[in-house]
Amino acid sequence: MFNAKAYSAASETSPLASTTIPRRDPTEHDVQIEILFCGICHSDVHSVRNEWSSVMPTVYPIVPGHEIVGRVNKVGSAVTKFKSGDLAGVGCLVDSDHTCPNCQDGLEQLCPNQTLTFNSPDRHLGGVTYGGYSESIVVDEHFVLHVPANLDLAGVAPLLCAGITTYSPLRRWGDIKRKKVGVVGLGGLGHMGVKFARAFGAHVVVFTTSESKREDALRLGAHEVVVSRNADEMQQHAGSFDFILDTIAAEHDINTYLHLLGRDGNLTLVGAPEKPLPVSAFSLIFGRRSLSGSLIGGLAETQEMLDFCGEHNITADVEIIPIQKVNEAYERLLKSDVKYRFSIDMTSLKG
Ligand SMILES: [Zn+2]
Ligand SMILES: [Zn+2]
Repeated sequence: MFNAKAYSAASETSPLASTTIPRRDPTEHDVQIEILFCGICHSDVHSVRNEWSSVMPTVYPIVPGHEIVGRVNKVGSAVTKFKSGDLAGVGCLVDSDHTCPNCQDGLEQLCPNQTLTFNSPDRHLGGVTYGGYSESIVVDEHFVLHVPANLDLAGVAPLLCAGITTYSPLRRWGDIKRKKVGVVGLGGLGHMGVKFARAFGAHVVVFTTSESKREDALRLGAHEVVVSRNADEMQQHAGSFDFILDTIAAEHDINTYLHLLGRDGNLTLVGAPEKPLPVSAFSLIFGRRSLSGSLIGGLAETQEMLDFCGEHNITADVEIIPIQKVNEAYERLLKSDVKYRFSIDMTSLKG
């Protein structure tokens, strides 16, 4: 074991503060990574404040962070994918059973015995796993990703959660080239959805509640922007979409969006509103429409996403902060006051 500097919260009402955590010495299949940037995901805030206590209660102290990018500084004797000095990424998962049908199909994100990057039982050290708000992390090489060298690393970090969360459903829907694709919401997830849909060759329409986001949506790659409060504007698009990616985590009427889908159109949810969303059967029956959900992506698909980003020069739009500003960043995140993701410069931990 060795000690690593980190930021942790001691209780659901405590701010994140400087601490030291244990990390395991790399086993033969492990990669040790010096963390350079870690994105701030909304789930970090939910977990730190124990807001998902009914589904996954937080164990304190918690070290959040699952949008990790850094450089390998040690590898175990059996590691074949990485060598010291390589760029490396780690997302929401650090382990799974490797044997269930989902793992065998490369869908580790759906494994019933997965280990999440933070606040999940730690099979090696006991207690729970500690995430990326730290100077280093040790992870089985299967869960470590190669990062294209041409990309800006601060903007790569959010690809490991927000990126794969939006890439996977767009990809799984099939060839969306020249198809009409909607993206609901323009936050951390939505802005990545726009970039990917555009890169896949779709006709991209952004739905936003705020007129002020119009210009930015176009800059990010949207062909059209619809202000969803405007019923007439919405009605003009009725029955015309092939696919809609819904990234909204707050309460909203999804029937309004289902109504915009054409025959066999699909709306996929990647945001997670707290309360159940009412769905009118008629919204689905007419047009044989479907409603789905999607959860991050498997390791192979996450690597495919990063390679795609390398080829198309795609990264998240980030505001870089030092770790000392993390509590302030949480407050700003809750007010959607960030374009479009915070990326923590982890070298600030050394200062
Ligand atoms: Zn996340
Ligand atoms: Zn499994």
